[in-house]
Amino acid sequence: MEKLILVKYGELTTKKDNRNYFINALVKTIENKLNNINYRIEKDYYRMFIYADDVDMVLPKIQGIFGIHELVIAYKIINNDISNICESVCNILNDVTFNSFKIETNRSDKKYPIRSNDISRMVGAHVLKNFNSVKVDVHNPDVLMNVEIRREAVYLYYEKYSGMKGYPVGTMGKALLMLSGGIDSVVAGYLTMKRGVCLDFLYFESIPHTSIEARNKVISLANLLYNYGNMGKLYVVNFTKIQEYIYKNMKSEYLITFMRRMMYRIAEDIAKKTHSIAIVNGENIGQVASQTLTSIHVVNEVTNYPIIRPLATYEKLEIIDVAKKIGSYDISILPYEDCCTVFVPKHPVINPKLDLIYEEEKNFDFNLIDEALNNIMVITIPTIQKTNNEYL
Ligand code: ATP
Ligand code: MG
Repeated sequence: MEKLILVKYGELTTKKDNRNYFINALVKTIENKLNNINYRIEKDYYRMFIYADDVDMVLPKIQGIFGIHELVIAYKIINNDISNICESVCNILNDVTFNSFKIETNRSDKKYPIRSNDISRMVGAHVLKNFNSVKVDVHNPDVLMNVEIRREAVYLYYEKYSGMKGYPVGTMGKALLMLSGGIDSVVAGYLTMKRGVCLDFLYFESIPHTSIEARNKVISLANLLYNYGNMGKLYVVNFTKIQEYIYKNMKSEYLITFMRRMMYRIAEDIAKKTHSIAIVNGENIGQVASQTLTSIHVVNEVTNYPIIRPLATYEKLEIIDVAKKIGSYDISILPYEDCCTVFVPKHPVINPKLDLIYEEEKNFDFNLIDEALNNIMVITIPTIQKTNNEYL
């Protein structure tokens, strides 16, 4: 009897023509996570089988991978004789504490001479004979033992773990995530990765108005996202001169609107040059003045790039729930100022007018954008951490 992990694919099962592409991407992701473990992978159209010296060590390493529907610890037997199946089930149950059980059989090998219901009945009877005080409970058993009869082998399993669902990261191309240190953008990144998109990251800083700690916080968040996906690049843009210019020279109620239009322009340029085919951010309809639908409209107007806003319709509490689940919340609430919070006008406009924006932007010094684009700091994710919260 050989112990292994049986991987049931997630939504990729619906992708008929591209199925092998998705499965191979999943294999690659799993291989990356298991780089210092002795293992072997076999795969077919429906499942993946991971053999390892220590299967229990493999499980936690791959539980966070997108594209997996369910992970099952299974026991494989080659001799499919019914008496061997009965014995093997009892051997497995010897290590389990239980009062009630149910046997469920699935026979994909239709040539096997005994029908599924009969197999369940025979195995169940054998368990009752070998374990004194246990009973069958078909509705709510302590142990649900699956017997899967396949042509090449029989798989026995009762331990199942929910997978992360979604698509393997990378199968849907690459996007650029606007990553601030706040709660929202990292959650937006996580949800986008779940749909199979791999990410690069973009952070605008305004040193000396914002701190190195604020940058380190963003690096920590990018590293956290790496655990769910791919290696990537974090582009750090020095936004100080642009912000100061807007602050000194442009209409103050529109300060955030102008800032965000400049951010989008820069984001589009970086995305294009680095082969990202979309921009992702944590915007949410109505969360703040700069995110009314009108504001989103006039800011979006500077680019033709697809802007993905996974959190557009979320409640803040729903966003916080995800942040806590993925472990970003405690990092995000560290109290370092972001460039958007340093320069907040007293009365930000909630219905910005495009005519006025065009008029004001006629005088904007667009050389500042080129200058920012020519001085980008690039940080590779994952980053080697030097000390507790220090990276560079
Ligand atoms: P978060 O929304 O992540 O909590 P925030 O609330 O400070 O951060 P908002 O003002 O709500 O940010 O901005 C909306 C979105 O714009 C963010 O979710 C993020 O995607 C992007 N953004 C804002 N500030 C920055 C920044 N300094 N660098 C990169 N992206 C930013
Ligand atoms: Mg926000």
